[in-house]
Parts: sequence; C-alpha cells; structure tokens
Amino acid sequence: MGIAPRNHQAEERLTMPDDHAPPHKAQAFATRMSHAGRAGTRAHGFVNPPVHRGSTVLMPSAQARRDFAKDRFNRVMTYGTAGGPTHYALEDVICEIEGGTRCVLVGTGLAAVTVPLMAYLKTGDHCLMPDSVYGPARNIANGLLANYGIATTFYDPTIGEAEIAALIQPNTKVVYTESPGSHTFELQDIPAIARAAHARGCTVMMDNTWGIHNFMPFEHGVDVSIQALTKYVGGHSDVLLGSITTNTEEDYLKVRTAAGQMGHFAAPDDCWLALRGARTMPVRLKHQERSGLEVARWFETRAEVQRVLHPGLPSHPQHALFTRDFRGSCSLFGVVLQPAYTEADLFRLIDSLTLFGIGASWGGYESLALPTTGFITRTATSDDLGGQTMRIHIGLEDVGDLIADLEQGLATLPR
Ligand SMILES: *Cc1c(COP(=O)(O)O)cnc(C)c1O
Repeated sequence: MGIAPRNHQAEERLTMPDDHAPPHKAQAFATRMSHAGRAGTRAHGFVNPPVHRGSTVLMPSAQARRDFAKDRFNRVMTYGTAGGPTHYALEDVICEIEGGTRCVLVGTGLAAVTVPLMAYLKTGDHCLMPDSVYGPARNIANGLLANYGIATTFYDPTIGEAEIAALIQPNTKVVYTESPGSHTFELQDIPAIARAAHARGCTVMMDNTWGIHNFMPFEHGVDVSIQALTKYVGGHSDVLLGSITTNTEEDYLKVRTAAGQMGHFAAPDDCWLALRGARTMPVRLKHQERSGLEVARWFETRAEVQRVLHPGLPSHPQHALFTRDFRGSCSLFGVVLQPAYTEADLFRLIDSLTLFGIGASWGGYESLALPTTGFITRTATSDDLGGQTMRIHIGLEDVGDLIADLEQGLATLPR
C-alpha cells in the first residue's frame, strides 16, 4: 500500500512548519507567556491563533481514519473532543505556567478537580483531603465518590510528613492538597506531604489556582496539578475553564483517558479567551500582587480588623513556608473583623463599598468582597476564625481609590 496517507492538517504542518520559536526555560515568565503556543506565520501570519471550532474532522482516506484513531493522545486531530489547534496552543501555555509536560483542558475549574479524582480512585479506595479544601471538592468527596464506595478522610491542612503518613491506609490512593486553603488561607507543606504520599505509592494532586506560577507544583512533588483558568488566566471574569497538568506520560494518559470517557471538553472559543488572557497575565498578576499586599497591610493597621489571612504577610502563621516555596502571591486574601462585630455589621460594611463587587470567583480585573463566615465547612479542624470574615479580591483599580472605599466601609462599623 506504500506510505500511509496523511491527515491533511498534518500535511500542512509538514509543508509549512511552525516558524515561531517556542520559549525556553532561561527566559523570564513574561517573555515565555508572550511567545508560548504561537504558530508564527504558519496560520496565515496573524499573531493570535484562530479559533478552530468543530465536531467532524475530515480525513483524507479510509485508511487514515483507521491510523489516526490509534494515535488520538498525540495531537492527531480525529474529532472535536480530541482537541484541535486552539486547544494545543493553550495546553502549551499552561505547561509553561506550571512547568509540566502535558495538559488536559476541561470546561470548568471544578471539572479539573473532579476528573483526576475519578481517574485515580475506584470502589474500595481511600482519599485524603485537606479540611480547608475548595467547597465543591468536598462535595464530590462526600457525594459521588462516597456513592461509588470511595472513602475520604479530611485532614488538618497544616500537618507535616509524619502526621500525613499516619493517615495513609493500605487503600489510600490519592493525597489531595490545596495551598493556601480556600477562604482560610492555611499553607500546606507540600514537599513533606508528597514525600509521605510517594513513600506509600499515593498520587499527589494539588489545586494550584492560588499559586498559579508562583508555586511550581512539579518542583515540590505534585503529580497532578489543577488550575481554575477561570481566575487569573482568563483574567476578565468572562470565561469558565479548567486545566489538569501532569509531568509524566503515565499521569497524562490516566487523566486524558478519564476526561475522554466522561466526555469532558473545553470550548475552543473559551480556550481562545484564556490564551488572550494568558498573554497579559504576568503583568496583571504582578500589579495585583503589589496592590493586594498594600491593601492587606493597610487592613493590618486598622483597629476594626483582628487578623488578615494572607500568606505573603509576615504575620501569617506559616509565612516561612511561603518564603520557602512561593515566588510571590496573588491578590486574594481574607480579613477577620474584631469579635465584637456581628454579621449585620459585616453585611453593612460590604454593601457600602462602591468599587468592590459582591460575587464568587476571583482573578479578574475588578475587585470583589465576599462575606465568608457561614461558607466555611470544617470537619477535622475548627471553623471558628474568631470573628466575622470576608474574602477580598484586589483587581486592577488604583489602590488608593480601593483603600479609600474600604476606609468608608470600615467607618460604617459601630464605634
Ligand atoms: C474557582 C475555583 C475552582 C473552580 O473553578 P470554576 O471554573 O469556577 O469551576 C477550583 N478551585 C479553586 C481553588 C477555585 O477558587
């Protein structure tokens, strides 16, 4: 039969190879974000990759249809759900952000949490999850996973190697982590947890949405890294998307297979929005980190405030872990008011703000304030933070304007 006919896209790649040099490790993050996942002049010369929408992918011959189906995990375009050029570009960008080798894109950050759990756990297995975990991750552990006969133990997120080792049972397959924890911002000693987990053959998963590229998961022993791209990568509060990044082919195939079996998919238009967001993310993130720290430090000077929950502040109980493992912070943190204030006081404060929206999610260009008291579930540790709590996300507004708004907000509290 001679040489097998090629997929016509593959042929195009051979005759017109990518001519945009991919970034290399020695380059700074902002440089790499500007050059990763680009095709150069191949895709007609336009700077940004086009959106390739589609279900059907046409084949040049019947034999090609058979040959390509065998190779669907290696970027051979066979059907919409196998991904296309827009997905590949974003996958490359996410791998640059987290330092991984392969990436699976899914429709939401939550799907990026659930897919690897479903991929690595089966009936009779046991999973360890930090008590400070993102709420919907707790829900799948107590819901679908429990229904399938998978048990989860919630652990104190601040425990070390020996304590994690003591919680690992013969059937423990996954040690899940998230650092810092949602709403409460406890840091985890990921390298210590990973050492204990790997010694017992467990897979280490991490929700790295807060750390983004400030925490490099694979340098600290994580096997499977989860990102809600909805947050800083999207960056404009107009897209939902998730990524699962791995560093070995084995882990990639496991995640990719589960995502494929469950029919997970990321819309190419959403991938394109995330790609556009990623180009400016290094600049946005630096600006928001600086503004976030400035506002957090300002809150610390205020008598109405009992504590600020920000790992980048020296007052954070695990600040030493932060300086050891993180290159920087994002602009999401918690504020605990003095114990005398009531929920009604907190609500009045938040309602009085004019520059801070009241809403879930974060990582966009706009600031947010969210009451978190009552939204924190704890089963292994105390949920009592000692006062009414709000979560603050600092956007790209002028930091002086933001502080002025917060100042008038605090002034609504009873004296
Ligand atoms: C928002 C968030 C998610 C989920 O992302 P969605 O795209 O909203 O589903 C997962 N983990 C963390 C830590 C989050 O903040």
